[in-house]
Amino acid sequence: MSTQRWISLVLVTGLAVLVGIGLWQTSGGTGRGYVAVVREPVGIMGTSCRLVAVVREGDEEKAEEALAMAQAELSRIEGLMSSWIENSEISRFNAAGARQPVKLSAETLDLLRAARDASEATGGAFDVTCRPLIELWRAAGESGQRPTTAEIAEAQMVTGWLGITLSEHEAIKSSAPIRVDLGGIAKGYAIDRAVEAMREFGVAGGMVDVGGDLRCFGRPPSGHAWGVQVRDPFADRVFGEFSLEEGAVCTSGGYARFTEIEGRRYSHIIDPRRGEPVGHVVSASVVAPTAQTADIWATALSVLGEPGLEELPADVEALLIAGDASAPQLSGKGRFPEDLKKKQLFPVFPNAVFSPAGS
Ligand code: AMP
Ligand code: MG
Repeated sequence: MSTQRWISLVLVTGLAVLVGIGLWQTSGGTGRGYVAVVREPVGIMGTSCRLVAVVREGDEEKAEEALAMAQAELSRIEGLMSSWIENSEISRFNAAGARQPVKLSAETLDLLRAARDASEATGGAFDVTCRPLIELWRAAGESGQRPTTAEIAEAQMVTGWLGITLSEHEAIKSSAPIRVDLGGIAKGYAIDRAVEAMREFGVAGGMVDVGGDLRCFGRPPSGHAWGVQVRDPFADRVFGEFSLEEGAVCTSGGYARFTEIEGRRYSHIIDPRRGEPVGHVVSASVVAPTAQTADIWATALSVLGEPGLEELPADVEALLIAGDASAPQLSGKGRFPEDLKKKQLFPVFPNAVFSPAGS
């Protein structure tokens, strides 16, 4: 099978998690007395979660503390920023009326500013203010009927940053229907905060993986770089991998989550400029120094497609897959697509200690 063909098998269909990571030893491992403590808490951001802390043998307690703190960070940020949680800061902002100041934490305001900057950096392809469009298309998915041109235009009228003012302690909207959705950035931000929390405990290495979006630092117990696996969506096995020393990988997939309207599949990612779900890019995986950056650009590239590769910051790499299973079109920047090698690897957790995912 050609490289082109097997990657299409890996990424062109709709599994929620397209990229995974594990403590796979790539060459036997030197095992200099390091252990990986692994925790898989449930109920984090409505998806799977794996946290790993690497410590010297005997320091497992330190690892447990680091993992508990990382988990607490993920939950804390979810509580602040999820629009699925009724009382979150973002939900309060979304429910607010016109010109009604909403007090927000410095952290939420900072992330909103970062999201505003990202909108500018991506030419409006990444825009957290497109929630009215997201809701419109979600409702269309439920009713089975495409929104009308007028409905799309109406939602576009209340999309964009012009109607939102961010001050030192609060956010104000100019009209009530303006709403934001941090679904394309908050997970990345939370992963970064969880990694920072873990680092404070002085662990030798670690990894935070939330639903296939991840960031790692330091070294796995083998002493080698971390291996990032690209999964075969048709079978429970690994098709390819690339290695990552430090950094984040996030994937956005048009087919990973979709709604079906009048027999057509629509992605959960919206092109705010057209007011419609994206169609062309099937999967975008981004490698960046931080998960926040990787998360933003994975979504943005899903909108921009191949021309978006030119817009990527210098230290950001990406793998794009468009087309379909029979004729995939691969493109990328940096190590991709060349670096995705076909290898059959066997997951091993050298000396891993599974810790209870306590709350
Ligand atoms: P991700 O899976 O990281 O690509 O994030 C997708 C989520 O971000 C969606 O479920 C929406 O909540 C939100 N979203 C959809 N389209 C956009 C967009 N163009 N810019 C920013 N966020 C978006
Ligand atoms: Mg994203």
